Amino acid sequence: MTDFKRDGSNLAYCPPVEKWDDWVELDPEAWPRRVEKHYDLVPTVCFNCESACGLLAYVDKENGKVIKFEGNPMHPASRGRLCAKGPATINQIHDPDRVLYPMKRNGPRGSGKWTRTTWDEVLETFGSRIRKAIQEGRGEEVMYHVGRPGADFVMERTLQAWGIDGHNSHTNVCSSSARLGYLLWHYSDRPSPDHANARFILLMSAHLESGHYFNPHAQRIIDGKMAGAKLAVMDPRLSNTASMADYWMPTYPGTEAAVLLAMAKVILDENRFDSAFMRKWTNWEDLEVDGFSAKGQSFESAIDALKKHYAKFTPQFAEKESGVKADVIVKIAREIAAAGSRFASHLWRGSASGNLGGWQPARALMLLHVLTGSVGTEGGHNLNAWNKFVPKPYKVPPPQTRWNELLYPQEWPLCTHEMSFLLPHFLKEGRGRIEAYFTRVFNPVWTYPDGFSWIEMLRDEEKVGLHAALTPTWSETAWFADYVLPMGFSSERHDLMSQESYAGRWIGFRQPVNRVLRERKGEKFEYTYQSNPGEVWEEDEFWISLSWAIDPDGSMGIRQYFESPYRPGEKLTVDDYYGWMFDHSVPGLPEAAKKEGLTPLQYMRKYGAFEVTRDVYKQNEKALSEAELVDSKVDPSGVVTKSGKAIGVVVEGKPVVGYNTPSRKLELFSKTMADWKWPEFTLPEYYRSHIHRSAQTASLGEPSEDFDPTYAPKVEWPEHAKGDVYTLLPIFRLPNLIHTRSGNAKFLYEISHKNPLWINPEDAKRMGGIRTGDLMKVHTEIGYFVLHAWVTEGLVPGVVACSHHLGRWRVNKDDQVERMSSAWVDLKEVGKGQWKMRQLESVLPYDSPDPETKRVWWSDAGVHQDITFPVHPDPVSGMHCWHQMVRVERAHTGDRYGDIFVDTNLSFAVYQRWKALARPAPGPGGLRRPLWIPRVVRPADSAYYFK
Ligand code: SF4
Repeated sequence: MTDFKRDGSNLAYCPPVEKWDDWVELDPEAWPRRVEKHYDLVPTVCFNCESACGLLAYVDKENGKVIKFEGNPMHPASRGRLCAKGPATINQIHDPDRVLYPMKRNGPRGSGKWTRTTWDEVLETFGSRIRKAIQEGRGEEVMYHVGRPGADFVMERTLQAWGIDGHNSHTNVCSSSARLGYLLWHYSDRPSPDHANARFILLMSAHLESGHYFNPHAQRIIDGKMAGAKLAVMDPRLSNTASMADYWMPTYPGTEAAVLLAMAKVILDENRFDSAFMRKWTNWEDLEVDGFSAKGQSFESAIDALKKHYAKFTPQFAEKESGVKADVIVKIAREIAAAGSRFASHLWRGSASGNLGGWQPARALMLLHVLTGSVGTEGGHNLNAWNKFVPKPYKVPPPQTRWNELLYPQEWPLCTHEMSFLLPHFLKEGRGRIEAYFTRVFNPVWTYPDGFSWIEMLRDEEKVGLHAALTPTWSETAWFADYVLPMGFSSERHDLMSQESYAGRWIGFRQPVNRVLRERKGEKFEYTYQSNPGEVWEEDEFWISLSWAIDPDGSMGIRQYFESPYRPGEKLTVDDYYGWMFDHSVPGLPEAAKKEGLTPLQYMRKYGAFEVTRDVYKQNEKALSEAELVDSKVDPSGVVTKSGKAIGVVVEGKPVVGYNTPSRKLELFSKTMADWKWPEFTLPEYYRSHIHRSAQTASLGEPSEDFDPTYAPKVEWPEHAKGDVYTLLPIFRLPNLIHTRSGNAKFLYEISHKNPLWINPEDAKRMGGIRTGDLMKVHTEIGYFVLHAWVTEGLVPGVVACSHHLGRWRVNKDDQVERMSSAWVDLKEVGKGQWKMRQLESVLPYDSPDPETKRVWWSDAGVHQDITFPVHPDPVSGMHCWHQMVRVERAHTGDRYGDIFVDTNLSFAVYQRWKALARPAPGPGGLRRPLWIPRVVRPADSAYYFK
């Protein structure tokens, strides 16, 4: 046996690339005999969250079976390391309950009756329906609705080739509020923090355990900490991340912007800000506040106006609002100022996604970066667009000239993403219908608020003509589809991905492991489903084939985008698509491949990832080239324009790229907000969330002078709601679960399978001595759910919490369901719009070809809380404000664990109350939304105007 050194310096890290064709390990099942097993190691990319970490599939040379997944050391972002969900891919691909063949319903929608069909029949059915809709000018009735994207640009290109405005996404229940806060400053809607080189890191998310790109980010946060950086975490809940921090700031939910602005005030008042940076890179000259206009005034007078404006945000005021001690606020503000350009932070979901006005914490956080000059710097805040690389495919279609009001309705002109969670209400209001609907790795009945309204929409064939659920697993939404179409997991599909994981740009290539290995050995496949389990397909080939089915003879102009660049008139293959892109659109890749005697495609198949560059800082300072300056003009504010579009800005006499904002600078002052009817929000501000204590008092009909109904309507409790009022935090992630597709991943569910109600001991006492395990009833504005209590000091008093990752359910007991993660339920509509659900049987071990299913030892599937939440569209960002005001009491006699009740008539009424607070378009010039604000699958400029 090897003598291992105690410091681990002689431990193997990951199998070296030169041994991937024949990696040898001892067979653990043969122990204590030393039997060697030989493996092919094939790189691919994890599909279990947005991080896109590199996986290595271990394929047994004897039988061609994938036996495990570990990290790919050649992947620049994940560097060979994975979270629990990466290796659990093995459970997903061998799941005996997964969808293996295309299935078609043969009873009423939702009846659970299915028969197997063929891919050809699917293509013919959808191809002809979509063709007819497009030819009749009803392209908006075709909608693609994505849950977890897992690929860059393929769908944008496909939908634009079809000429429709049909892309819908889950983003408005996920991250749009934070995105608005960021993009108002600099156009990019996400940060790319350089944690590894930071001196101070402030997390308003749980990035050591979850959150966006968390495995790659967690590694860099720890790198930063090991190099001496301090870590502060602002979170009402003691997350695992907060437990690792130097400072935990447990805020009362929704008050985070007050704390951040108090920190800004300290930095301003104590003159600790980077005045040279602010003078050079903010649009301070546009500032108009409290009667002061900076036009023609000095920079110092603008700073004085800012100091006066933020004078109300004293640390004491912030303490009163948030509960975070004033002296802690001051201390951290000073540490942030001391870190200067090496201050990194992240805000994603959390306070941004939970609260009314959740876009303001992101905006206030950016103010701290601007004050410290930590934008675009080593160790600071960089822009996602600088660190994410999306190569251009061959033949990009022109933008669509149509606008779909079901996606971007006029009430929310500043929403960064589609108002997807309101779709059932839009159809109920008669705003349109859907002819062909694709839900793709997406389970809105379960993951969205107000899931019963989704059921009502999906079962109505007038509203939704034809629905295909593209999914690897059965789900609550697939249940109400007409077709369930099996899509592949990490090792069964092609995709190209890139994320802003660190100070560098990279691409990762997901590939179907069996197909790649068998083709290496000389076999040939026309389609990936021929080498996958059952007839599991990959989406690239599905969309290519569907496009041919829509336009079989090319007369609609669609097919041309799905023909091979190498064999004119023949169908595009995945090798054509990615091979062309790697040859032409990834700088440095052809040269790197050539050095090894490979084509770029062979290189990507061999390594699975490629780092494009590390030259990513201060992209705003890039000089405009002479060619770019030809025929350009400079306006009085210094903005450089060409053909009527801004392309840069003159800074200190030099024309540089700047930022993609109207002023081409960081927008301290947003004229856009004033132009679009929100003049009170031209600067970063704090206003109270819909769950603020003043709103709670008002909901009980008690006098509440502080309650301001300008932005959130007063809550109206249904008759049955009793008990004290609390704020429910419903959106924290469990680090090892993945919403729907981890359903039958035993390695994950045996770690987490309960989502109890977190209650602070003070509150437990106030409620009459609640103890862990007691049965509680939680009332929302539209219904209730029943679950167990967990008494813990891990969150602030006045707040309860419940993870949204659990509570899966199934209507069928055994067939076409996921048995390991869901409770078998009785689901009934007991009156018009009144829904009841009761658990009949919890999780049990069962026989299947996978021995793991007999080893299921737990019985709890959790409780589905999201389905009891009404929609709360933020009047500005449009994002669903997830936090709920709830009333909590002990369960009554007759209540059972997992009981759920909802009245969708009430949910429609709540929707109407929130909608009334929005300030609809048109904006200046008859625009539907500002031209400069990005939009997913952006249409032509002409479509932005009301006709
Ligand atoms: S963080 Fe985990 S789930 Fe996400 S891609 Fe990486 S290994 Fe997969």
